[in-house]
Amino acid sequence: MKATCYNLRVSEKLIHEIIPVGLLQCNCSILGDPVTREAIVVDPGDDVEHVLEILAANKLKVRAIVSTHTHIDHVGGLAGLRRATGAPVLIHEADLDLYRRLDVQAQFLGTPTPESTKIEDFVKEGDTLRWGDYSARVIHTPGHTPGSISLYIERGRETGGESGGGKGAGATRSFLERQTPGPATASAQASLQADLEAHAHSHAHQVTHGVDGGPARLIAGDTLFQGSIGRTDLWGGSMKDILRSIREKLMALPDKTLVIPGHGETTTIGEEREYNPYLK
Ligand SMILES: [Zn+2]
Ligand SMILES: [Zn+2]
Repeated sequence: MKATCYNLRVSEKLIHEIIPVGLLQCNCSILGDPVTREAIVVDPGDDVEHVLEILAANKLKVRAIVSTHTHIDHVGGLAGLRRATGAPVLIHEADLDLYRRLDVQAQFLGTPTPESTKIEDFVKEGDTLRWGDYSARVIHTPGHTPGSISLYIERGRETGGESGGGKGAGATRSFLERQTPGPATASAQASLQADLEAHAHSHAHQVTHGVDGGPARLIAGDTLFQGSIGRTDLWGGSMKDILRSIREKLMALPDKTLVIPGHGETTTIGEEREYNPYLK
């Protein structure tokens, strides 16, 4: 790295605003590229006005709106944010039925039914979401709901990786990079697994993946919390599935990975590996 670039680089950190929204204080993440000003918004449960203020203050343009799952507290703002930004809404297909039953969820909580909106597209295991020079890998983590996903942000500008970097490079790329369908899926799946296992085995050697020179980040939805896990007694929940998702997929990530749960305080994969009573 050239010394002359240093100051510039310092100001080019990932924009990551986490705001608790709505009655159940769902953590909404606004992720922006400081150079291209492209962004994605994850779990806009409510408070669309506040999300729009943050987007405007940072001069961000939303490329995609994603929900980690379709419980009412994570999807209430999808319609309003989609209308205000024109950005497409993405979920995992296995949560579509649940999204269609927002009225039942609202009755259960005793709250008004939020407006629902068109789902433009589905994301699945291994897909990559891109905004500018940043990206997040979709990890399907069923259990809390059948279509629960986690987003693993493993690359930023300084760690470069396959993105190639460069100002404005993101503008020419699609915001959603598909896992190859068909026969290639199995091998791509295997390479993802190999990649995750490589991470798991490289703790001692300092994992090189990360965001802006810091650790990678995981937006975990309601799958993994600080000292707890998501409830599985609601529509389509499964204790067996959530434990398998956490043990096989999330615990394969590096210890330093910063975890942003769907509610409450942030934690790390290492802390949860050591102290989470559900993972003993
Ligand atoms: Zn939930
Ligand atoms: Zn929630």
